[in-house]
Amino acid sequence: MTTANYDVVVIGGGHAGCEAAAASARLGVNTALFTHKINTIGEMSCNPAIGGLGKGHLVREIDALDGVMGVVADKSGIQFRLLNRSRGPAVQGPRTQSDRALYKEHMQKILLNYKNLKIVADPVIKFIFDNIENKVIGFKCQSGVEYKCKQLILTTGTFLNGLIHIGETQIPAGRYNEKPSTGLSEQLTKFKMKIGRLKTGTPPRLDGNTINYDELEMQPADDDPHFFSFLSNKLCNKQIKCGMTYTNNSVHKIISDNISKSAMYSGSIKGVGPRYCPAIEDKIVKFKEKEKHQIFLEPEGLNDNTIYPNGISTSLPEEVQAQILAKIKGLEHVVMKRAGYAIEYDYVDPRELKETLETKKIHCLFLAGQINGTTGYEEAAAQGLMAGINAALKVKNKTEFVLDRSTSYIGVMIDDLITKGVSEPYRMFTSRAEYRLTLRADNADQRLTDLGIKIGLVQEDRKKLFLKKKSNIVKLTGVLKKNFLSPNEANKYDIKIAKDGVKRSALEVIGQRNVSMAKIRQIFNTPFYGVEVDRQVEIDSHYKGYLNRQSQDIKSFKKDEAVTIPENLNYSLMSGLSNEIKSKLVNIKPKTLGQAMRIDGVTPASIIILLSHIKRSQKKKSA
Ligand code: FAD
Repeated sequence: MTTANYDVVVIGGGHAGCEAAAASARLGVNTALFTHKINTIGEMSCNPAIGGLGKGHLVREIDALDGVMGVVADKSGIQFRLLNRSRGPAVQGPRTQSDRALYKEHMQKILLNYKNLKIVADPVIKFIFDNIENKVIGFKCQSGVEYKCKQLILTTGTFLNGLIHIGETQIPAGRYNEKPSTGLSEQLTKFKMKIGRLKTGTPPRLDGNTINYDELEMQPADDDPHFFSFLSNKLCNKQIKCGMTYTNNSVHKIISDNISKSAMYSGSIKGVGPRYCPAIEDKIVKFKEKEKHQIFLEPEGLNDNTIYPNGISTSLPEEVQAQILAKIKGLEHVVMKRAGYAIEYDYVDPRELKETLETKKIHCLFLAGQINGTTGYEEAAAQGLMAGINAALKVKNKTEFVLDRSTSYIGVMIDDLITKGVSEPYRMFTSRAEYRLTLRADNADQRLTDLGIKIGLVQEDRKKLFLKKKSNIVKLTGVLKKNFLSPNEANKYDIKIAKDGVKRSALEVIGQRNVSMAKIRQIFNTPFYGVEVDRQVEIDSHYKGYLNRQSQDIKSFKKDEAVTIPENLNYSLMSGLSNEIKSKLVNIKPKTLGQAMRIDGVTPASIIILLSHIKRSQKKKSA
């Protein structure tokens, strides 16, 4: 029985699902989010932290498009730290340790009160397809109720045929103490969607009252917190310290002696795990020469004595985990509240997706988050945002919203996923972005908020704040352009510029790394529009020289992106292309010449052949 029809339905209340549902609802379409339980919406399945290198950039971009993750992270942050502080702003990563309970609480409060959004606690057990049109048209829930929808976004994370491993023990689960989702992957396989297995892991949880912190190094929060949201301006919570400890030779010996009991090494796990977030047994096997590995003891909340020992995720048997902990400084008498585990789950090869995150084989079905082979809350949320936007725009019959590699980390991630696929869980790094001097965390709003405003995605309060900031940046820059100082005057203020007698504008002078807006104000009477405006003008000026050079690269990138490949181009007729390259082009169906160039194994020679066919097809069309 069908009880309700929705424009957009999101399956899953994780990080992708929350962002997808909010984005679709912000665009004004009738949206519903279906999940297992209301109280697990916004659950942090693993570490209680948001952001970090590359990941922090994603959160700032989500926020610039009026997403929810940045706001919630700021409201639940208990230890803000800017990573890579000593390096340039392009590679600095905002991060916060979050109070796990507060994160969920704020996310649920926001979503339950979101306009155009209905939340339903009833897991989905079956898709309903129109098999003639290869289109999803609805779904059936565990309660037996069937619903219709125009667009469906699947964000089931680690739940599809999820299987937990602790030593030899195997438990079917989506994550700790939660049932897996079965049957859905099998339905997708019928459409010949490529589905594989990946794995990830989590460390044991510890009772903080049984840790001896006396001899441990403690890491405090930053004095000047860098928030995720452009809307935030003050701390919401008390800031905490994290303890630091290390593994040692005794720990490594226990692991080596028991390696065959680890689910990862016994052969019972088939899925590939994240290379950049390895299990402790993987670190011991792969980095034999290292005498110790760092462990951060991260509190899970202000009113929770649970500690997340970041750095020792494991799938060894519980008793071996206990032996390991007892050998670590500070943890000699620790009580383990819950054993660490690994989880294997189904993922869909992201090359099955268009750049809107709609699947190529099933119309009206979008996928976002861990299901696409990524790992991490931020990667999931960023995909959710884009799937939510595009599903809603499709309902409204509007042009799709695609971000390219030169505008955002979101664009980099989606292009990487749909063009190259994944061989291990994909996580974001600043090194993945070729235009990272342009794609900084500080300027995410300047790059993206206008684009969001144009499609009606950005709510009024943010729009006002953004437009004011933008106009103040223009005003301040204008003032700086009009004020000049000579080398002699500069020297008086300890600013080093060439002694060539040429007067320079304050804007040129602030381009030097050691010159701040505070310094400029000692010299000129310059209006003050707030710390954020000062900061933006300072950073933009510091980067100006590099950005001018980078803009040339971006221009040539855009030129290749502007060459669109006709959808019906017949690759099999192109002589000179190897069968391997033809099959890659047929499967991935690149939309632009630029995207074709980024497919692994596609050679410059094959690009020349492709280009000549594109030109021929364009000529035929215009003839
Ligand atoms: P999830 O957060 O998994 O959310 C899935 C949602 O879908 C849930 O709300 C669930 O209830 C819902 N759902 C599932 N099936 C159905 C259904 N049939 N009907 C309705 N609702 C459904 N990331 C890292 O970056 N580093 C790590 O070290 C790391 N370790 C991890 C360890 C473990 C054990 C786990 C489980 C995850 C780990 N992750 C790690 C991954 C991180 O948790 C995910 O990347 C992130 O949560 C993915 O977000 P998501 O929204 O895609 O899915």
